[in-house]
Amino acid sequence: MNYLIYPIKIMNITQTYKNDFSHSRHTVGTPKDYPIDDNCGATGPNGYFYCPCDAMTVKKIYGVGSSSSNVLWLESTTPVITPTFTDYVTIMIGHIEDAELNKLKIGQTFTRKEPIAIEGKDGFATGEHFHIVVGRGKFRGSGWVKNTNDIWVINTTGGSVKPEDAFFIDNTFTTIKNSAGLNFLDLYIPDIEEDDYYYTTAESLNIRLGPGTNYNAINTLPKNSRIKVREFVNNWARITDKEYVASNYVTKKEPSKYYETKSTTADFLNVRSKPAGTILKVKAPLPKGTTVAVMEEKNGWTKINTNRWVYSSYVK
Ligand SMILES: [Zn+2]
Repeated sequence: MNYLIYPIKIMNITQTYKNDFSHSRHTVGTPKDYPIDDNCGATGPNGYFYCPCDAMTVKKIYGVGSSSSNVLWLESTTPVITPTFTDYVTIMIGHIEDAELNKLKIGQTFTRKEPIAIEGKDGFATGEHFHIVVGRGKFRGSGWVKNTNDIWVINTTGGSVKPEDAFFIDNTFTTIKNSAGLNFLDLYIPDIEEDDYYYTTAESLNIRLGPGTNYNAINTLPKNSRIKVREFVNNWARITDKEYVASNYVTKKEPSKYYETKSTTADFLNVRSKPAGTILKVKAPLPKGTTVAVMEEKNGWTKINTNRWVYSSYVK
């Protein structure tokens, strides 16, 4: 479950990519990126950038000893799961002081939630903060490229992405003081007390990692799957800490026959066309904690939809 989470313990975003100040030239140029500034809750050098996924490697350090703004590039060592895609990510971080960057080495690897560097104001920033830019995919070229406004923007194999499309909020880790109007998705929600079951009505209903068709679809549920709805968000029903289905396709009316749902327990669970059949690539493999329907069980295999089977030991 290599979910990409917000990398700071107290989120206090002081400028987004939408603001009209120094970031505007990033987002109106070509190519563009989507920077945010976060001062970690208060003025002063009080917050760390923590590794936001299972592992990230230092790819490049720029600007130490010069008057220009220092920049650090980190790349995930494996694909990560975000609300909108599953891929490698590369993150560019600005303003970290020379002394902090001198402790880092190219190729050094950090693991989830490990502190990487403290916020700074190198490059004449008005106060200590991180300037954070996320790119989908791997580090490309020199890691950045000049846009049509003469601004250096991130250069990755999959292009720049908005922070709220990349980071989940792990609310056991991050407290939101100010998100500056950006709508981040939580990875966890409190458990509900009462059983509130619904049944799916679409022939095959996508499970997505956020309340919209722009979010990553990770699995499908066959018609008449029994699910528990935690909350409704606009036209979306949240069925677990991170999974949503379109609410138009759920009903409280119990069908004459329905399928129970379970959750996957392997980090990435292969889906096969039949018991021990071909490994499928569409909406597969399933990340840990994915909801699956149980249509049939046969010889240690579980049918989760038409022509989709998983190994039964990894669902419970
Ligand atoms: Zn900035």
